Amino acid sequence: MHELSIACSLISIVKETLHDRPCRVKAVVVRVGRLSNVLIDSLEFGFSALIAGTELDGARLIVRQPDPLLLCGECGQETVLKEFEFACPHCGSLNITVKGGDDLFVESIEVEEETAS
Ligand SMILES: [Zn+2]
Repeated sequence: MHELSIACSLISIVKETLHDRPCRVKAVVVRVGRLSNVLIDSLEFGFSALIAGTELDGARLIVRQPDPLLLCGECGQETVLKEFEFACPHCGSLNITVKGGDDLFVESIEVEEETAS
């Protein structure tokens, strides 16, 4: 189950980013490409299981799944990749690259600063 190890590395990224700042993490926004074969349910489950009882307890995992883009090397047009297309819908060129299909990274972290009172 590789979602658990993904959740684990997401958590260490969050911890490294915050670097012991005194704040409470409200949400972690991650970007997961549609072609990355990650089961979102398992990822969310693994995340909440791993943060239980830690300083991240209660943080929500927000998963964004943008559509991958098909970038044409001939006409330069970018098209949202709906299915598996291997040619540019504008000019028919096969000189294409797919962007963002297998993204997997922490996009942002929402925190609540702890006010020293
Ligand atoms: Zn094209």
